[in-house]
Amino acid sequence: AGLCPTLNALETGERHGTDRDSMVGRNGQQWVFSTRVTPFGPAENRKAVVAFADVSTHVALQQELAVQAQTDVLTGTLNRRSIVQNLQAALDDPTQTPCVLALDIDFFKKVNDTHGHQTGDQVLIHFCRTIETMLRKGDLLGRMGGEEFLVLMPDTGLASATEWAERMRALCACTTVPPLSAPVTISLGVAELEPGAASPPEAIHRLVERVDAALYRAKRSGRNRVVAD
Ligand code: GH3
Ligand code: MG
Ligand code: MG
Repeated sequence: AGLCPTLNALETGERHGTDRDSMVGRNGQQWVFSTRVTPFGPAENRKAVVAFADVSTHVALQQELAVQAQTDVLTGTLNRRSIVQNLQAALDDPTQTPCVLALDIDFFKKVNDTHGHQTGDQVLIHFCRTIETMLRKGDLLGRMGGEEFLVLMPDTGLASATEWAERMRALCACTTVPPLSAPVTISLGVAELEPGAASPPEAIHRLVERVDAALYRAKRSGRNRVVAD
C-alpha cells in the first residue's frame, strides 16, 4: 500500500502509474515495464484498467547511450567530458585530496609517419589496455585528445601517485607493441590538489594547468620521464 499504483488508484479515484518497475521472469530474464492505472466507477464499487508496457528495449537503449556519451570511441576509455566531470566531482568532495596525472606518448607523430595512422591507432588502444592493468580500484583513465590522457587518483598522495607514474613509465619503456620493433615511451606530469584550493571551476582549471606544466617539463627535460608538480 502506498507504493502500489493499483491500490492507490482504487483508493483515490485518480490515475496512478509507475515508469520503471523491474521484474524477473521464470526463465531468469529481467524486464522493465511501466504501469498505468485508470480507475472508473463509483467509490463504493471502483474498478480500474491496468495497462503494462514493456519498456526493456527502451531502457537498455538509454543505458547504452549513456555509456556511449562518456566513452572515447577509439580506445574505450572515458572521454574528455567524462574524465573532467569525474575530476569535478572529486574536487567537489571536501573529504578527497585527489592526484591527477597527465600522460603523453613520446614522438607519437613519428609512429604515425613511419607505420601509418592505423598502426598508430592500434598503439593507442594497446597503450590504454596497458594502463588499465595498472589502475587501482577507484582510479580513472580518460582520453583528453590525441595521444594525451589523464589519470585521476582519488584520495591519493603525491608521493604514491608519482611512484605509480614511475612504474607506468618503466613498463611502457620495456614493452614493445606489435608491429613496432621498439617500445613507445611516455612522459608524465603529476599534481595533487592543494589544500584550500580555489572553489570549482577555478580549482579544476588550476589543477589541470599545473599537471600540464609538469608534463611539459618532463618533455623538455628529455621525455620518457616523470615530473611531479
Ligand atoms: P611529443 O613527444 O612532444 O609528445 O611529440 P609527439 O609527436 O607525440 O606530439 P605531437 O603533438 O607533435 O603529435 C601528436 C600526434 O598524434 C599528431 C597526431 O597526428 C597524432 N594523433 C592524434 N590523435 C590520433 C589518433 O586518434 N590516432 C592516431 N593514429 N594518431 C593520432
Ligand atoms: Mg606526444
Ligand atoms: Mg600530445
